[in-house]
Amino acid sequence: MAEIIDGKAIAAEVRSEVAGRVAELGRQGVSVRLDVILVGENPASVTYVRNKENDCAEVGIESRVHRFPEDASQEGLERLVEELNAAEEVSGFFVQLPLPEHVDQNGLLAGISPDKDVDGLVPLSAGRLALGLPALLPCTPHGVLQLLKRSGVEIEGRRAAVLGRSNLVGKPAAQLLLRENATVTICHSRTRDLAEVTSRADILVVAAGKRGVVGADHVKEGAVVVDVGIHRTEEGGLTGDVDFEAVEPKASAITPVPGGVGPMTRAMLLYNTLEAARGR
Ligand code: NAP
Repeated sequence: MAEIIDGKAIAAEVRSEVAGRVAELGRQGVSVRLDVILVGENPASVTYVRNKENDCAEVGIESRVHRFPEDASQEGLERLVEELNAAEEVSGFFVQLPLPEHVDQNGLLAGISPDKDVDGLVPLSAGRLALGLPALLPCTPHGVLQLLKRSGVEIEGRRAAVLGRSNLVGKPAAQLLLRENATVTICHSRTRDLAEVTSRADILVVAAGKRGVVGADHVKEGAVVVDVGIHRTEEGGLTGDVDFEAVEPKASAITPVPGGVGPMTRAMLLYNTLEAARGR
């Protein structure tokens, strides 16, 4: 029986720490504020932004949403990015993705100051992480790392495999594990004999975006398995990239979906906003 790594509880712990530190900054006269740029009315994006506003309220972070219509102009969005970069009262901000097709997403994100990039995804933030410089870290991979550390999983010197090489999850997750002195292998869709590679890992982080892609054969006996994937089931629930029923008996610890990485992603956004405010 594997230990079930409780992402909800660990995320609550992070939120509580952030709330304490936000209150402390408040006593020193420093307020913490998160701004969001929301373009159009994609229902999922609207829900995500509302959740993030609620999360901010819970920990005492002020939040503002800048709403643009679906046909927002590149110039208008870039102007706001410049204003938010310069605004003293804004600790950090992010652009809710996806953006409408006519918007040059890379161009827009490249304009965000790395000191305010609470998503940790702009090129300068990615460069800082790659070079080992202080940076705001991407929320999902940082959430994965916090889940491991706060569950007492030893990382240094162990074999880690990351399944997925996206800029959002896989690549930064691998870099963070490397920074913690794991020996890291990155797998992707062209990896030959995937199960042979992943089953050598003591720590397996799965971010493939393919439901059930990891089964018992992919996992070493006693490995720690972190499932980043999120998929809607036919019944309206959520499930991950890992075949939980098959893998759980073999793992020493495993994250569930839901209740694993997902809550951590939200918590790390609050953490980054606090860090951005402290950095200023
Ligand atoms: P992505 O951009 O689609 O990247 C998927 C990666 O997995 C790619 O590098 C791909 O390889 C690799 N891959 C796909 N199928 C594979 C296979 N059968 N074998 C080996 N490698 C395979 O996805 P993402 O944005 O990183 O997200 C991954 C998953 O995490 C998704 O389910 C997403 O919904 C979820 N997610 C969850 C959270 C959260 O908060 N829990 C946050 C972000 C994302 P190639 O590069 O060769 O194509």
